[in-house]
Amino acid sequence: MSGPRKRCTNCGTDIPHAAKICQECKTVQPSNLLLVGVVVFGLFCLLFGVPIALFSVGLGRLIGALFAVCGLAMVFGGYTAYIDRKAGIEV
Ligand SMILES: [Zn+2]
Repeated sequence: MSGPRKRCTNCGTDIPHAAKICQECKTVQPSNLLLVGVVVFGLFCLLFGVPIALFSVGLGRLIGALFAVCGLAMVFGGYTAYIDRKAGIEV
């Protein structure tokens, strides 16, 4: 028994941190990589959305603002989910 452990997101069984699937209930464990992807994609949307919103008019501005808001939501959502998961591992 070595290495960090985590709890199954479905049944709460203690499983190896690197495990992709729970040994008990066979639930696929969500990976942090997915969250990182969401945050990166959110940053991408922010990066494009803000300038588009600032420098275009009419529909372009609306679309840019929409991108920026969605990006912000993804960055915050992904980041807080990541923090929650890290906290969950440590408990
Ligand atoms: Zn399980």
